[in-house]
Amino acid sequence: MLAAAVLLSGCAQSVDPIERLGKKAAQRVRPHDPAGERPYRRWGLAAPLPPPPEPPTRPLTGSAGRGYGLPPVVDHVPTRDRVVFLTYDDGAERDPRFVDMVRELRLPVTMFLTDSVVGPGYGHFARLRSVGATIQNHTLDHISLRGLPHAGQRAEICGQQDKLRSRFGLRPRLFRPPYGTYDTATVRAAADCGITAVVLWRASMGPAGLTYPHGPHRLVPGDIIAVDPDESLGPTLRERTTRVLRRVREQGLTVGRLEDYL
Ligand SMILES: [Zn+2]
Repeated sequence: MLAAAVLLSGCAQSVDPIERLGKKAAQRVRPHDPAGERPYRRWGLAAPLPPPPEPPTRPLTGSAGRGYGLPPVVDHVPTRDRVVFLTYDDGAERDPRFVDMVRELRLPVTMFLTDSVVGPGYGHFARLRSVGATIQNHTLDHISLRGLPHAGQRAEICGQQDKLRSRFGLRPRLFRPPYGTYDTATVRAAADCGITAVVLWRASMGPAGLTYPHGPHRLVPGDIIAVDPDESLGPTLRERTTRVLRRVREQGLTVGRLEDYL
């Protein structure tokens, strides 16, 4: 009896355990880190996002265009790549789990930061940056710039360039005007401060889902999406991001890095 048991276990050890259990069973007995293997499930997605394509070798506002003319104002990037871009404003996303989401899903998100809103929260954005987010300019004080004198607009934009340089050692190239309002003085001031593109959005994810101020009422390649960080009216930032990602997948798209295209 004892000899048979020894013989059996000895025999079992000599066979590849995956072969022995069959592939399905092997999948069932790999629960040690199921979320680690399939982080998309942890974040409410049925399947992973497709990997982004190789970014263009010549971005729209690449170095060749710098220093010449005014920066373009964009809410959409002309590209045939099946990518859209996820952007966030205002320093409201201080939830540490959002950092986990960005890291685990490898989301190349762009954060537009306002100094007076971020306040003591710069450490959070340093963490986001360390997991792959990029940081861009959203003014010092989040005032509506349209109609202000050039000098005042310049102070708001260049002032935040200075803050981001001292906090992160960065020279942001992208700027989003608060509330999406701007005029020609804004674009000139942005150019003065080293900005190469003024970034608006074509789709916005708010409490009621995705809305499109103009153009097709679905996501198309090159769309810039603003995820509203205000959690006081409805789903959390993470849930909103999940909802956007589901729509991105439904349209056969994935998330690209805005800075690779602009
Ligand atoms: Zn804002």
